[in-house]
Amino acid sequence: MRHDDNLTTERPTFVTHLECGMTGERYDADQIHGLSRVGRPLLVRYDLKALGAAVTPADLAQRPADLWRYRELLPVRRAENIVSLGESTTPIVALRKVGAGEGARNLLVKDEGRLPTGSFKARGLVMAISMAKELGVTTIAMPTNGNAGAAAAAYAAQAGIDAVIFCPDDTPEINVREIAAQGARVYRVNGLIDDCGKLVAAGKEANGWFDLSTLKEPYRIEGKKTMGLELAEELGWELPDVIFYPTGGGTGLIGMWKAFAELEALGWIGSKRPRMVAVQAEGCAPIVRAWEQGERHATRWEDAHTVAAGIRVPQAVGDFLILDAVRDSNGFAIAVSDAAILEAVEDAARLDGLLLCPEGGATLAAWRAAIADGRVSPDETVLLFNCATGLKYPMEDRSATLDRHGPIDFSAL
Ligand SMILES: *Cc1c(COP(=O)(O)O)cnc(C)c1O
Repeated sequence: MRHDDNLTTERPTFVTHLECGMTGERYDADQIHGLSRVGRPLLVRYDLKALGAAVTPADLAQRPADLWRYRELLPVRRAENIVSLGESTTPIVALRKVGAGEGARNLLVKDEGRLPTGSFKARGLVMAISMAKELGVTTIAMPTNGNAGAAAAAYAAQAGIDAVIFCPDDTPEINVREIAAQGARVYRVNGLIDDCGKLVAAGKEANGWFDLSTLKEPYRIEGKKTMGLELAEELGWELPDVIFYPTGGGTGLIGMWKAFAELEALGWIGSKRPRMVAVQAEGCAPIVRAWEQGERHATRWEDAHTVAAGIRVPQAVGDFLILDAVRDSNGFAIAVSDAAILEAVEDAARLDGLLLCPEGGATLAAWRAAIADGRVSPDETVLLFNCATGLKYPMEDRSATLDRHGPIDFSAL
């Protein structure tokens, strides 16, 4: 693939070290790491000064429109370790009619459903699996609500790494099947994603699996960070006023926040930041509850349920990083009902022709609620995230049937 000219094999990256997201304690790069000593996520740090001297936004503009165009800001050292299914830049699409319904002209959606395996989990997993390959991992294991497992399986197949995947037994059927089709061993578990995570932890002890759970290894964030780099570049190095992000483990929100800090340090953007809005479902809203109560950590949400499986995450190891970004940005956390989610999905498809996944629908429902209560104004430029292709999810059958052999009243069609 064209990545051979994207990365010369001998060139070191600009990674200097890793750092505990909670304590700031330093860890060496180029070694296999999970969580930090205090059990919190590790963040990759770069020599941004040297990086800024080596590459400019004008250089980027010459490169292929994919995630690897940001290679200097990514951790993979050697091109031959890159696995890829074509992680193309995703478009920003205006929801004109839905926006106009609330008097807004700048309602935008970053449509992540165009990525390999049909979701933005591809961004995180292409990075995590490339790094797993680089660091010599032979078997990965992960808990998933569906899309992460699908992306992990796909890239693991390419890397020649064994993948063992655990999902709640009510995970969308298509996800369970695509995981298996892409060569992973997949198990349906009678529990939620954090229960699946406990099985991964036990299997790690027993079998030496590498734990690829959200934020329990350092590189999925780096992959998700490219959403922030990409949207900044697409919008001419100007950030929107507000970003609505459907928050499960929060990797994307944390990753974008990190991206913005790195871009400002490089001088590619100014100090203006979007208000970051963490969107959850009313049936599983641990981050919203913690935000409302002014807590830095979120307690587990019992009996979690929602149609938006991707954000059914009762407890997140990166809770404080999500909450810090929401607060530092002057944003907020908001929960929406399943009914509002489904209505939003229907409206975006019917009015603007964009088929959202339920989690994407949640961001639209949250925007509507925030317009209604005045937390967001219709004049603001708002970016919603559609994280997966709507085609992966069940749709109502609204078709009618015709008998081609009988008389047809065309005036009634
Ligand atoms: C994983 C997932 C989310 C949540 O993303 P995080 O970055 O883990 O919070 C939202 N929507 C979909 C479709 C997902 O697969």
